[in-house]
Amino acid sequence: MELSRRMSGVSVRPWPATAALLYLGLFVAASLPSARAEAVERSRRGELKRVLVLHSFGREFRPWSEYARDIKSELERQSRWPLDIQEHALLTARFNIPGPEAPFVEYLHSLYQGVTPDVVLSIGAPAARFAQRYRAKLFPDTPLILTAVEDRLIHRAGLGSNDVVVAIRNDFMAAFENILQVLPDTKSVAVVIGASPLERFWVEEVKRELKPLDGRVELVWYSDLSFEEILKRASKLPPGTALFWGLMSVDAAGVVHESDIALRSLHAVANAPIFSYQEPFFGDGPVGGPMHLIAETSARTVRAAIGILGGAKPASINSETIGFSAPRYDWRELRRWGISESRLPPDSQILFREPNIWERYRWQMLMVAAAFLVQGGLISGLLHERRRRMVAEVESRQRLAELAHANRYSAVGELTTSIAHELNQPLGSILTNAETAELMLSANTPDINEVRQILADIRRDDQRASEVIRRLRSVLKKTPFEIRDIALNGTVREALGLAKAVADGRRIALTYTPLTTDLHVRGDPVQLQQVILNLIINAMDAVTDADAGRREISVSTLRAGNQAEVRITDTGPGIAPADLAKVFDPFFTTKPQGMGMGLAIVKTIIEAHHGEIVAANHAAGGAQFTMRLPIAG
Ligand code: ADP
Repeated sequence: MELSRRMSGVSVRPWPATAALLYLGLFVAASLPSARAEAVERSRRGELKRVLVLHSFGREFRPWSEYARDIKSELERQSRWPLDIQEHALLTARFNIPGPEAPFVEYLHSLYQGVTPDVVLSIGAPAARFAQRYRAKLFPDTPLILTAVEDRLIHRAGLGSNDVVVAIRNDFMAAFENILQVLPDTKSVAVVIGASPLERFWVEEVKRELKPLDGRVELVWYSDLSFEEILKRASKLPPGTALFWGLMSVDAAGVVHESDIALRSLHAVANAPIFSYQEPFFGDGPVGGPMHLIAETSARTVRAAIGILGGAKPASINSETIGFSAPRYDWRELRRWGISESRLPPDSQILFREPNIWERYRWQMLMVAAAFLVQGGLISGLLHERRRRMVAEVESRQRLAELAHANRYSAVGELTTSIAHELNQPLGSILTNAETAELMLSANTPDINEVRQILADIRRDDQRASEVIRRLRSVLKKTPFEIRDIALNGTVREALGLAKAVADGRRIALTYTPLTTDLHVRGDPVQLQQVILNLIINAMDAVTDADAGRREISVSTLRAGNQAEVRITDTGPGIAPADLAKVFDPFFTTKPQGMGMGLAIVKTIIEAHHGEIVAANHAAGGAQFTMRLPIAG
C-alpha cells in the first residue's frame, strides 16, 4: 500500500521535478565512493565506530522494537566515538512458511565487503539465529552480541570466543501464578500467541511449562485464529476468564501485526483482564505482574558493546540470563477489574496511578487553603476586634451614664435653693387655703361654693408641688444609657421647667421658642435634658455675673436640613476668643468654684448621640451654644 502510493507519486510528478530528482540522484551516486572511502579511513583511524543492528521481524515489532530503541539511544549517549549505526530487518522471520534467506545474505555481503562493522548486534531470536548461521560468510572476525534472546532459543554449540549473549528467561509458570494470585476466581485463560515459526515454538513451550496447572485452570489457545476472530472471541469471554498476551507478530491468517495496534485493539474490545510478562507491552492494557524490563537487558547490551568497541575481548564479558523483575501493575487496570492492592505481592510496584484531585492540584489547593486560612484569621481577628469595640462602647456608655449622673446631682445641687423655693410656694398656699377653709366651715352658714373653690386651689398647688418632685426625680434617676424615640420640643421644655424657678429667682428672663412642628430624634431623654440643663445653668451663671442690666436666656428648637437644632443664647459677657476652643475640654473652667466638667459631659453625650455642639459669641455680646442631632427616621 505504502509502496504503491509512493510509486504513483513518482508517475504523476511533472517532468522538471523528476529531472531535478534524477540529477540529485546522479550527484549523490557520484559522491558515494568518496564518502565511503572517507568513512573507511576514519574507521581505520579509530575515530568512527560502526555498529550493525539486526532486527528480527522488522524495526517496529514489539517487544524487540522497544529494546532496540533503548539500546540505540543508550549506546549513542555512552559512546566516546562517533557512531554509525546501521539497521537491517530480517523480513523472512515474518512468514509462517519462511522463504529463502540467500538473497538477503548476498545483499549484506556486498554491502559490508571491505567495510566490516566493529560490532554486530542481533535483537531477538530470529536475528540471533540468522547472525550465527551466516557470520562466517558475512563478518567472520566481527564480535557479535546476541541480545533480547530467550535462553531456549540460543544455539549454544555455535557460539565462539567472539560472541556475547544477553539472554532472558521466560517463566510462564510465574506469569500464570500471578494471574491466579491477583484474580483467584480465574477458571480459564485464553492465550494469545501468533502463528509464525517463532510463535509456534512458544505455544509448545507454554503448553509444556504449564502442565502442572492441568485441572486448576483451563487453557484456551488462539494461535490458529486470525486476529479478527481473536478480537471477536475476546469481547465475549465468560466470567472467570483472563487473557494472556504472549506475542502477536503474525496471526494464523498471515497478517503481520506491527507496532502496538494489535494489543490496543484487543484492550479496547476485551471483556476480561489482559496479562503479559513484557515491559514493552505494559501500559497499553496488561494488568501487570512479574516482567522483563527493557532497561536491564539494554544496560547489559550497551555495557558489552562499549567494552568491545573499546577493545575488550568478547569472551571476557559474561552475562547471566536475565529473569523477571519484581512485579509491576497498572493502577488503571487494577481499578478497572476491581483488583485490591492487598492481593498484590509485597514487593510490587504500582504505576500509572492517576493523581487524585488533591495530588493533581496540590499547590493550587494549598494556596486556596492558605488564602482561606488567612481570610479566616482576618475575619476572626476583625470579629474579635468588633466585639472588643462593642464591649468598650458599652463600657464607655456606662461610664458616661455614671459621670452624667454625678454631674446631674451637682447641677441639681446648684438648683436646690430655687427648687426648695418652688416647693415652698405651693405648700405655703396649701396651708393658707386649708386654714381659710377651716375658718369658713366653722361659720354657721358656710359658703359651700367658696370652700369648693379653695379645695380646687389646694389641689392645683399640690399638683404643682408634685410636678416639681417628679421632674427632680426624673432627672436624678439612675438609668443606663438607652436609646429611644424622643420628641425634642417636650424634652427641652421639661429641662427648662426645672431651671425656671432658678431663673425667676435670679430675675432672668428665660424664653423658649420651639419649632411649631415636633422634631423627633433618637436618644436618651434624661441625658438630653441634662445637656440642656447644663447649658442653661452656664448661661444663668454668665448673665448673673454680667454687670449690664439685660438678663436674658433664649432657647429655641429649629430644623437645619436633616438635623434638629437647639440654640441657647444668653446676654452674658460671652466667651473669651482664646477660650472658645477649650470650653469643652475636661476641667477647663474660669469660675472660682467651677469643676470644668459640665461642657465636657455635654459634648460626650451629644457625640454619643451622633450629633455635634459648637460654642460661639454673638456680635451683640453673649454666648451661643448650638447643638445638632440627626432627625430620626
Ligand atoms: P464650669 O461651669 O464648672 O466652669 P463648664 O464645663 O460647664 O464648667 O464650663 C467651662 C467654662 O466655659 C466655664 O468656666 C466658662 O468659662 C465657659 N462658659 C460656659 N458657658 C458659658 C457661657 N454661657 N458664657 C460664657 N462662658 C461660658
